[in-house]
Amino acid sequence: MSVTINTIGIVGAGQMGNGIAHVCAAAGLSVRLNDMSEERINGALATINGNMARQVAKGAMTDEVRHAALGRISAAKTFEDLGGCDLVIEAATENEEVKRNIFVNLCRALPPETLLATNTSSISITRLAAATNRPEKFIGIHFMNPVPVMQLVELIRGIATEDATFEAARGLIARLGKTSTVSEDFPAFIVNRILLPMINEAVYTLYEGVGSVESIDTAMKLGANHPMGPLQLADFIGLDTCLSVMQVLHDGLADSKYRPCPLLVKYVEAGWLGRKTKRGFYDYRGEKPVPTR
Ligand code: NAD
Repeated sequence: MSVTINTIGIVGAGQMGNGIAHVCAAAGLSVRLNDMSEERINGALATINGNMARQVAKGAMTDEVRHAALGRISAAKTFEDLGGCDLVIEAATENEEVKRNIFVNLCRALPPETLLATNTSSISITRLAAATNRPEKFIGIHFMNPVPVMQLVELIRGIATEDATFEAARGLIARLGKTSTVSEDFPAFIVNRILLPMINEAVYTLYEGVGSVESIDTAMKLGANHPMGPLQLADFIGLDTCLSVMQVLHDGLADSKYRPCPLLVKYVEAGWLGRKTKRGFYDYRGEKPVPTR
């Protein structure tokens, strides 16, 4: 029998972690939010507050619901503070070493029945599950960015994931009012397996001088009917995350067609990671985004 998830722990309160906290709290779940410092957790709480206030202003949420939802989110300074959760989802930096360490430490702090999930965009669920003492209670729950807006969630079973774990995750996604789709556990799953090579190709198109940032984005918006240009989307996702997904595809499938574009590597090395650092393929420090190439 699968458990109903009423209390959820989130490790990593960045753009995805705060989005997951937002939708879970709005759906009535109790949320415990963890990050490396109190400052980061408080930053995430402020972001959630601001995002919910925007929803209220647009009429998508009432002020009472916002208050109640904010009241359901609390800070978890340590992994022990996540002890009463039915499920803990990891949404930390897309780095396998970081995630493995988190899961090793979580397993020490949590009772054996707590379900574990990762929001990884690309890393093997089976391999991350193997870092835990409960691979049958481990699953990939891949939310899309921005979480409050995007309808899809990919569910990915590891080789050992039990049906009860899968059903608990599927029940959670339904309760959030989102649609789940199932992907097998192969590098980058479905959405990013298709999306990231397109973004990488857009960066190659820029790198080879075929077009400017603006012409590439305009071309794909108006020529392929994409709501956002691929470089704009890359900035939105985070260029470090984009690079990391390409590296996982390249390493995992050993096909040169997934070679990360050297220009993408250069932007990441510069710390120009997109919107979150205010500079990427566009510069966001002024009133309007300005292309950086
Ligand atoms: P982010 O950089 O905004 O946030 C990552 C957070 O993790 C940071 O706040 C960081 O302090 C925290 N963190 C790092 N190590 C930690 C640790 N040991 N303990 C606790 N917290 C720690 O990144 P993001 O965009 O939110 O991505 C998070 C995850 O979600 C990644 O696995 C990414 O692949 C995945 N994801 C991202 C997107 C996207 O579009 N950005 C979409 C779907 C999934």
